[in-house]
Amino acid sequence: MLSTGANGLSAREASERLETYGPNRLPEGPRSGALKRFLLQFHNLLIYVLLAAGLIAAAIGHGPDSLVIFAVVLINAVIGFVQEGRAEKALEAIRAMIDPQASVVRNGRRTTIRAGEVVPGDIVLLEAGDRVPADLRLIKARNLRIDEAILTGESVPVDKSIRPVAGDAALGDRFSMAFSGTFVAAGQGTGVTVATGAAAELGRISSMIGAVERIATPLVRQMGQLARQITIAVLGASVVVFTYAVLFRSYRLEDAFMTVVGLAVAAIPEGMPAVMTITLAVGVQRMARRNAIIRRLPAVETLGSVSVICSDKTGTLTRNEMTVSAVVTAEREIEVEGAGYRPEGGFRTSGGKALDPAADPVLEELSLAALLCNDAHLEERREEWTVNGDPMEGALVTLAMKAGHDAAAARAGFARLDEIPFDSRHRYMATLNACNGRPPVVYVKGAPEGILAMCSRVASFTGEQSLDFTGWHDRIQALAAAGQRVIALARRRMKDGTREIAPADIEHDLTLLGLVGLIDPPRPEAIAAVAECRAAGIRVKMITGDHAATARAIALQLGLAEEPKAITGQELEEAGEAGIHRHAREATVFARTSPEQKLRLVEALQADGSIVAMTGDGVNDAPALKRADVGVAMGCKGTEAAKEASEMVLADDNFASIVAAVREGRTVYDNLTKVIAWTLPTNGGEALTIVLAILFGLNLPVTPVQILWINMVTAVALGLTLAFEPTEPGAMQRSPRPAGAKILSGRLLWRILFVSALMVAGTFGIYAWAVARGLSIETARTMAVNTLVVMEIFYLFSVRYVHGTSLTWQGALGTSAVLIGVATVVGAQFAFTYLPPMHLIFGSRPVSFIDGIQIIAVGVALLLVVEAEKRIAALFTLSSDSRRLEQRL
Ligand code: ADP
Ligand code: MG
Repeated sequence: MLSTGANGLSAREASERLETYGPNRLPEGPRSGALKRFLLQFHNLLIYVLLAAGLIAAAIGHGPDSLVIFAVVLINAVIGFVQEGRAEKALEAIRAMIDPQASVVRNGRRTTIRAGEVVPGDIVLLEAGDRVPADLRLIKARNLRIDEAILTGESVPVDKSIRPVAGDAALGDRFSMAFSGTFVAAGQGTGVTVATGAAAELGRISSMIGAVERIATPLVRQMGQLARQITIAVLGASVVVFTYAVLFRSYRLEDAFMTVVGLAVAAIPEGMPAVMTITLAVGVQRMARRNAIIRRLPAVETLGSVSVICSDKTGTLTRNEMTVSAVVTAEREIEVEGAGYRPEGGFRTSGGKALDPAADPVLEELSLAALLCNDAHLEERREEWTVNGDPMEGALVTLAMKAGHDAAAARAGFARLDEIPFDSRHRYMATLNACNGRPPVVYVKGAPEGILAMCSRVASFTGEQSLDFTGWHDRIQALAAAGQRVIALARRRMKDGTREIAPADIEHDLTLLGLVGLIDPPRPEAIAAVAECRAAGIRVKMITGDHAATARAIALQLGLAEEPKAITGQELEEAGEAGIHRHAREATVFARTSPEQKLRLVEALQADGSIVAMTGDGVNDAPALKRADVGVAMGCKGTEAAKEASEMVLADDNFASIVAAVREGRTVYDNLTKVIAWTLPTNGGEALTIVLAILFGLNLPVTPVQILWINMVTAVALGLTLAFEPTEPGAMQRSPRPAGAKILSGRLLWRILFVSALMVAGTFGIYAWAVARGLSIETARTMAVNTLVVMEIFYLFSVRYVHGTSLTWQGALGTSAVLIGVATVVGAQFAFTYLPPMHLIFGSRPVSFIDGIQIIAVGVALLLVVEAEKRIAALFTLSSDSRRLEQRL
């Protein structure tokens, strides 16, 4: 059934089996149907209260009122349903952008496919960091260790082998199997797929199926809770107001009832949690557009308060487009010409004379070693040379081709018998190559200090010489200080018949062939992003496996600091507990660090109160990524294990994308604040108007149905527009929001009270003024309703800039969302004021042109007062903010 050969499946077989067995995916849990999701919109305390109120209103003969109440409920539900559905779809689409991949052999070639396309019989290749895509029977295993915690709960990785085990062995004891969903902790392996999708062991864990994440973050949950608390408080207050109105103001029971319903609807921010959810979803979409894919929603909030970004160097801050520019051998310092991966360019000696590579046996063997101890392939397509594999290794293939080697022929002629793959802990790679007829030879390449320590001799024209350690260290230092990545190459001839190598065999008595210097320029956009971070009070630290001098030179080019201080992993080790904290604070560059040290650095920075974003790609980075406040995995070169451990994945591995995400994170937080800062005072203004009228025994300036109308029109059309606000101009010139800062700050609470009071004053003012001029009470009420709405519109423009003035051209123009919202509301208000049917339902009356102007003037006045308050408050916060920024830097 699983028939497959060494060449793997053919494309046709694979697609046939995909038909037969279905995609390699767990079936989705029973997703709630559209109807259920729609009905869920009604599952809300306020809605229950409203429905009851609607029924009672109908029962006591307030037909139009009950219709309005039901309309409010329905509109709310429809909008919630549509928006939530859209938000969920958008998030799903974004998640699909980081679908896991798998390496398989098909048609005899290694290819990368989506894990969902793996079929039974596929030959799957595994290496450290991979997520096992399906259940596999292993046919090759080399130091293969797999973390099966997801299946067995056992956190220690299991050693795998190809020996068969008893058929009834427990899951955790089936050492010859690799199970879907588990992670390769170390080593390499190959397996034949025996089960995919729901048939795999993972499919039996029913709890995994259909675990659909709800759209919520700590902040949204917190605000949802606040909304519930307000609801309960308002309902309590309504009972009090009702009793008071009946007992002391001799309201008729039914009038008191309708008034209290109006009060409840006005005061309860029923739409706020939904608007906040949409704000988050918009933020996630914007981040995805900037290549930052959010895996865990709370990260959207955390991103806005990040105060330190720890970034890898190679590929994230630099381009990872490597070119060999220098080769150093025992006798020569050679300059290599050419750019990119195109294998064209000559060699020159330090004197500038052209060098024939064929005439230099050391250069010849060094470049052969660079080609054989290498997994990358170059591809030429339409005059473009690109690398399939690690860019640094690609550059070494280019070097070998410039030196006259034919890549395919050399690889066939010196077949690889065994290898030790590169690992960021030992920082070298070694291969054992056959040498037609002669004993096999080991070639090693890696970080130069490490390789040097394994060498006892050096190759030269005349054979092998003894090694001058200090001289070579100086040469390494010189190349690194120029910002070059330095790789050393070495060899060892083995005894005839050697078929395998282990680290112990090769970590001594090597013969050094020479050094290679590679240039990898900084990404221009990273330089700009670093500057943006510095303006935003965010410190950037480079954490790299590379040499300290190389890293420091690149840090200077990037502008990480004027005098970047570089610390090596070893110095960190020697510094002790107290020292680590000091270094974490003061140093900018951490070179030759191990993944374990990354974890310690994150912890040290967090102990200082920093909110840390940390990048990573390898399987060993997972603990640091998990620990960081925002773990950032590389989408292109990152392993599945790193992605799984992180909050965010970069589609383009680019540092600038992290900064773009931080910027969007700040924007989302600002917009959430705006939603609150707009919703609560408008609700407060409406509610207080009613309460005060009852309290002082005045005529209601706004009737209960009119309050329902205002809520129906403005809460959605105006409030929702804030979810789409763009980044404010100064967003990246502020210091990060302190960790744990409350969104309902004293400042915001004050603002809510202040604006509520202004709204009450405006409404009563217009109403009283109209009555005093002898206008009918209906006309006065229509003017009061229009005043409330106009004030809400002008306040919306004020709220759009929490950190600056709104009195600018840009502020006046608004986004298209704002303009659509305002146009809708204005249209609705004209209908409310001038259409006869509306007069019937809402008791409204036409308003004269002059009165209309007065209403707008009230709105303008509100805007000016709030802006003045902003200006005055800014004088205080600005000074404290700059003080905080100074302390940080
Ligand atoms: P980073 O990505 O932070 O620059 P790495 O951990 O990838 O650091 O690499 C650390 C060092 O290991 C490099 O400076 C280089 O000397 C060496 N190295 C990197 N990749 C390879 C490789 N494929 N083969 C051999 N040595 C390598
Ligand atoms: Mg690397």
